[in-house]
Amino acid sequence: MTRRDYEYIVLGLGGLGSAAAYWLSREAGADVLGLEQFELGHVRGESQDHSRIIRLSYHTPGYVELAKQAYAAWHDLEKESGEQVILETGGLDLGPRASAIPLETYSDSMAASGVAFEHLDAAEIMHRWPQFRLTDDIHGLYQERGGIAMAARANAAHQRMAREHGASLRDRTPVAGIRAAGGEIDVEAGGVSYRCRRLAIAAGPWSNAALAHVGLELPLEVTQEQVTYFASPRRRDFLPDRFPVWIWMDDPCYYGFPVFGEDGPKAAQDAGGKPVTAETRTFEPDPDNSRRVRDFLARYLPGAVGPEIYTKTCLYTLTPDRNFVIDAVPEMDGAFVAIGAGHAFKFASLIGKTLAQLARDGRAEADISPFGIARPILTQKDPARSYMV
Ligand SMILES: Cc1cc2nc3c(=O)[nH]c(=O)nc-3n(C[C@H](O)[C@H](O)[C@H](O)COP(=O)(O)OP(=O)(O)OC[C@H]3O[C@@H](n4cnc5c(N)ncnc54)[C@H](O)[C@@H]3O)c2cc1C
Repeated sequence: MTRRDYEYIVLGLGGLGSAAAYWLSREAGADVLGLEQFELGHVRGESQDHSRIIRLSYHTPGYVELAKQAYAAWHDLEKESGEQVILETGGLDLGPRASAIPLETYSDSMAASGVAFEHLDAAEIMHRWPQFRLTDDIHGLYQERGGIAMAARANAAHQRMAREHGASLRDRTPVAGIRAAGGEIDVEAGGVSYRCRRLAIAAGPWSNAALAHVGLELPLEVTQEQVTYFASPRRRDFLPDRFPVWIWMDDPCYYGFPVFGEDGPKAAQDAGGKPVTAETRTFEPDPDNSRRVRDFLARYLPGAVGPEIYTKTCLYTLTPDRNFVIDAVPEMDGAFVAIGAGHAFKFASLIGKTLAQLARDGRAEADISPFGIARPILTQKDPARSYMV
C-alpha cells in the first residue's frame, strides 16, 4: 500500500530539491517524500549538465559568505557519498576596466570577507594563460578556489544519499494540487493525496505554476539559455589543470569552462536568451546567441574555437533583481520555497540544507534576509529588471 503521510514533502527534484531531500533525510530518513514530475535527471529544467561554475568571487559580501558555506555543504556531501562533486580549477573574472559589471564590487566583497584573490593586468593574465588574447584595457581577478560544480553528478549523489537515508523519491509524479488541511498540507500528486507537516517547493521554471496552488504569483522571467561545447584544435591547452573557469564581466557577459564532461571546452553567454515558459521553450539553439559566443571566443580565446560538439539549451528562472527567493510561503503555514535566479547551482547543496532547516526549525543558519519572498521588487507586477550583477 502506498504510504500517504510524511513529515516532509519536497516538490521538484532538480538541483535544489534533490539537495533539500538529501538534507532533510539526514535527520528525518523515511519521513521524507520527494516528488518529481519527470524522470530523475531529465533535461527540461535548469540543473542538468556536466558543469556549473562555483566561485567565492561575488558582488556582495553576503554572497561571498554564502559561497563559503556552499563549499562546506558540498564537502559534507562529498564526504558522506564518497564522490567528488567539486573540482577547483581556479576562477578568473575579467573584462574591460570600464565595464558594465565593475570588478571592484567583486574585489571589495572578497576583501571584506577575508577571501584571498589576485588582481591581474592583461599581460599577467596572458602570461599565466596564453590561451587568452587581450588588449591592455582588460584586467582581471583570480581566485584559486573557483571551479566546477559537477551538476549532474551532484544531483545524482544528493538523490542516492537521500534514498540511502530512507527517503522516498518518486519520479514521473507531477504535483497537481496543494491545500492547507488544518495545520497540515495536502499534496495531490500522480492521483494520490499525500499529507505532510512541511512542504519545500523547488520547482525551478515551474515555480509560478507551483505557487499558483497557494494563490501566489511572482514577477519571474524564464529565459531559454544555451551552452556550447567546442572541439578545440588545441584541446590540451584547455584541460582543467592548466585552464580556469572564467567570466567576462561586461554586457554582454560570457563565461566558460575547461574541458570537462565532453571532449572540449564549454562557453556561453549569461542571460543571453529569450523569454519563454517551461511549456513554450524549444530545445533548438538560437543561432544569434551561438554566433555571439563564437565571435567572442574568436577574439579573446581563439584556440578554444573549433567545430561545435553540441549546444545544449537550458532555462533560467530570473527574479527581477537576480537575487534568490528562499523563504516561508506567506499564504501557507508549513510551506517553504526556493528559486535560484539563474545562478544557484553552486549554492544548491546549501540552499537544500537551508530549506531543510527552515522546514525543521523555522529558521536557517545562512543569512537569507536578502531573499525574502515579500521584498518590494517581488510585489510589483512589472518591475524593472537587471540581470547584470
Ligand atoms: C545554461 C545554464 C548555465 C548555468 N550556469 C550556472 C553556473 O555556472 N553556476 C551556477 O551556480 N548556476 C548556474 N546556473 C543556474 C543553476 O543551474 C540553477 O539556478 C539551478 O540549477 C536551479 O535549480 P532548481 O532546482 O531550482 O531548478 P530545476 O533543476 O529546474 O528543478 C526544478 C524541478 O522541479 C520539477 N517540478 C516542477 N514543478 C513540479 C510539479 N508540479 N510536480 C513535480 N515536480 C515539479 C521540475 O521537473 C524540475 O525537475 C545555470 C543555469 C543554466 C540554465
